[in-house]
Amino acid sequence: MTPVVGVLALQGDFEAHSRVLRELGAEPREVRVPADLLGLDGLIVPGGESTVMTLGIEREGLAGPLRDLAGRGTPILGTCAGMIMLDRDHLGLMDIRCERNAFGRQVRSFEVDLDLEGMEGGPVRAVFIRAPWVAEHGAGVEVLGAVDDHPIAVREGNLLAIAFHPELTGDDRLHRAFVDQVRAGLPA
Ligand code: GLN
Repeated sequence: MTPVVGVLALQGDFEAHSRVLRELGAEPREVRVPADLLGLDGLIVPGGESTVMTLGIEREGLAGPLRDLAGRGTPILGTCAGMIMLDRDHLGLMDIRCERNAFGRQVRSFEVDLDLEGMEGGPVRAVFIRAPWVAEHGAGVEVLGAVDDHPIAVREGNLLAIAFHPELTGDDRLHRAFVDQVRAGLPA
């Protein structure tokens, strides 16, 4: 069965995620209104601008349906602004609080090779663009990676949040791991 993975397409770089998903054999679906969430096997909340995304979610009445989707155990990946959207102060899906533009306005964008917990094949090339970090997190949140001791990759149950942009590097290991997780939840 081909997994159907939604990509929140209100704003931001959703097209790059759809491309990677297609390459991995998943069927991407752009999500703009609650009906687009029906029957999804997974969801990606992309990077962009969290303030604009928040307004779009309010306008379309997506907050409740997104919480229901997460509550059903559907795998969700949030990246950069998408990570912010998952936190306590936004959709409240994860027990984390993100600091926006945390690396400062001077260092707006940078790239590093990052070791991530559970990621085989060596460090991941990580592109940070005006990225957040996780400033606080609850005991149920597993930290998978950090920059200068600040968590930038975290997992809590079916939810995965990362501060960088895995869709921009050509290294598809993170998407691959996510799609594997989505496939694992499909009926046999
Ligand atoms: N700085 C943006 C925000 O706070 C996030 C940037 C990004 O997604 N690349 O919403």
